[in-house]
Amino acid sequence: MHEVSIIRSVFNSLEEQFSAEEREKLTQIDMEVGLFSNIEPLLLQNAFKAVQEAENKFPRAQLHITSIPIKILCENCHTESVIENYKFLCNNCGRASNNLISGTELLIKRVHFED
Ligand SMILES: [Zn+2]
Repeated sequence: MHEVSIIRSVFNSLEEQFSAEEREKLTQIDMEVGLFSNIEPLLLQNAFKAVQEAENKFPRAQLHITSIPIKILCENCHTESVIENYKFLCNNCGRASNNLISGTELLIKRVHFED
């Protein structure tokens, strides 16, 4: 499953960055997931719990996902538009554009630790 491998790589990168002692105090992982990234937040949550239990890692951590809208920047009139229903049209001049400026994110934004 796609989402499981994403969670594994998230855990791997946190294990590289933080000591075992720090990891025990980790309570929340904030991720940003673009609506154009092909990642389903619910499946990512399920994968998170599955890997957490199976590998006994980050036992206290919760996953918090923020969805990032798809935006384009029109090459014609330089207006930013939020894209809905995958209609890649400028809201201002109506021209088709696939000049994406957001929506493909898949990243760890922040991690929280117990005080
Ligand atoms: Zn335009």
